Amino acid sequence: MRLCDIQVVKTIMEQHGIHFQKKFGQNFLVNPAVPARIAQECGAQPQDAILEIGPGIGTLTQELAQRYRKVVAVEIDRDLIGVLHETMADYPNVTVIEGDIMKTDLRALFDEYFSDSRVSVCANLPYYITSPILMKLLESGLPFDYITVMIQREVAQRLCATPGSDAYGAITACASYYASTQTLFAVSKGNFIPVPKVDSAVIRMQRHAAPPVSVQSETMLFRVIRAAFEQRRKTLVNALSAGIPELEKSTYIQILQSLGMDENIRGEKLSLQQFADISNALFKRNSNGM
Ligand code: SAM
Repeated sequence: MRLCDIQVVKTIMEQHGIHFQKKFGQNFLVNPAVPARIAQECGAQPQDAILEIGPGIGTLTQELAQRYRKVVAVEIDRDLIGVLHETMADYPNVTVIEGDIMKTDLRALFDEYFSDSRVSVCANLPYYITSPILMKLLESGLPFDYITVMIQREVAQRLCATPGSDAYGAITACASYYASTQTLFAVSKGNFIPVPKVDSAVIRMQRHAAPPVSVQSETMLFRVIRAAFEQRRKTLVNALSAGIPELEKSTYIQILQSLGMDENIRGEKLSLQQFADISNALFKRNSNGM
């Protein structure tokens, strides 16, 4: 079935008596070249399984099902489940699950559907929860080889940003601990119905085999990163004193000096390695009774 067409999308919605749900970030693709390219470039191999988040009426799902062994698609909107059973009827390798990905037990999902093969994630994500979904996938520790997602262009720029640039933020540094990210291509807002306010980009994250930096406590690393960006216009010392108040400002100055960093440096200039060095120094203080 040709799903990626404005008229087809409208007809399916009318036949099922349903409407686009803004609260679920529903902007459906209507240019067939886009889902075909996302599926093609998602990094997976034909024998792999794919987890799709938010299949909508099945536009990308169908492209994935034609290329990969198995697709498991989690959709929050109950009204779309009936649609998907119809549109995916010709694809026995597609399993549709009704659910909220943020409430889904990913480990249980993995054990049930993906323990027998390599697995990657591929999705046109709902924009209202892009970052929480990506962090949930990355922090799950599950071996997703690639995470290929269409997201707001601005978030894509953040994820691919380098230290010191305006787009560099907590999510850049946190995500870089788990994966390397590249932008595959840009997609303008005219490719969706309803037309969203912002343009999009497709990114592909490749999970690191091992973290690129060594830390004694991941919790401490992420605390330091978040504190540094919480108040990004402040110096790192002031941002850390506000975000992790257990230590004196003078101690933060000492730590930075011992690591050869300028005490007036801002967090937005730091590489992941420098965040790791600070977190390891804090962890050491902590174990000595911080
Ligand atoms: N994949 C379709 C496409 O490309 O045309 C639809 C993409 S649309 C941007 C996002 C989809 O995610 C919608 O179908 C929406 O209902 C679904 N969705 C929103 N929040 C979700 C959540 N928390 N868990 C699972 N699906 C969700």
